[in-house]
Amino acid sequence: MRKALITGASRGIGRAIALRLAREGFALAIHYGKNREKAEEVAEEARRLGSPLVAVLGANLLEAEAASALVHQAAEALGGLDTLVNNAGITRDTLLVRMKDEDWEAVLEANLSSAFRTTREAVKLMMKARFGRIVNIASVVGLLGNPGQANYVASKAGLIGFTRAVAKEYAARGITVNAVAPGFIETEMTEGLPEEVKKAYLAQIPAGRFGKPEEVAEVVAFLVSEAAGYVNGQTICVDGGLAPH
Ligand code: NAP
Repeated sequence: MRKALITGASRGIGRAIALRLAREGFALAIHYGKNREKAEEVAEEARRLGSPLVAVLGANLLEAEAASALVHQAAEALGGLDTLVNNAGITRDTLLVRMKDEDWEAVLEANLSSAFRTTREAVKLMMKARFGRIVNIASVVGLLGNPGQANYVASKAGLIGFTRAVAKEYAARGITVNAVAPGFIETEMTEGLPEEVKKAYLAQIPAGRFGKPEEVAEVVAFLVSEAAGYVNGQTICVDGGLAPH
């Protein structure tokens, strides 16, 4: 039985990943920050879709110790851990000249440092088993840049670099580490953007539409599969053709 921890699985992309892996029969640790009720609903649906074992775990990833402890709690609840999806993330958008230190620090902490901590603990467990799958949810803006998001872009570009480094460090131990870079995906994170901003994004997307969380989950499901063992250190864009390559 495969065993996965998905951070930020109470809604949006994390929820879709949890439900997709439930259909594959994974045992799941569904992590949430504040929305316990929503995480319980995801757990209920995951059980219905075929997950044999589901744990719901809360942790504020802005707290260093909570992020490290989360991995061990997940492994304890599931009887091991072979898959980690670092999905939780936040934005605090503003122009650089108005960006406060706390806006910078919170975004770097939630999006990058927490992934460093969970990955460090997960790799220790995966090394013993000589098998592991780690997927980091980055963003196309980590490749392209985006005005008003210096903190967010830096965190996602950092996550892509972190992915490449750790992939090389543990490739010989049967552990793969890849990133998925979504474009504009319809979730609560993007719901609140002003209409004119959404229109401007849409005009740039070759597919002519925004993406769905399930479309990101599909790529994650492949990357965590045993079949993807020779795909390592990559960043796969799920963006309707937005990012140039
Ligand atoms: P979302 O709907 O805003 O959900 C964010 C998730 O992260 C929630 O489950 C939330 O938990 C959790 N979270 C946030 N802060 C946390 C904290 N301090 N401690 C613990 N958990 C925390 O976001 P989304 O759109 O699904 O995005 C998921 C990932 O994809 C993020 O990394 C985001 O940067 C990335 N992404 C999204 C898009 C997009 O267009 N939506 C594009 C590119 C990349 P609670 O609700 O329980 O607090």
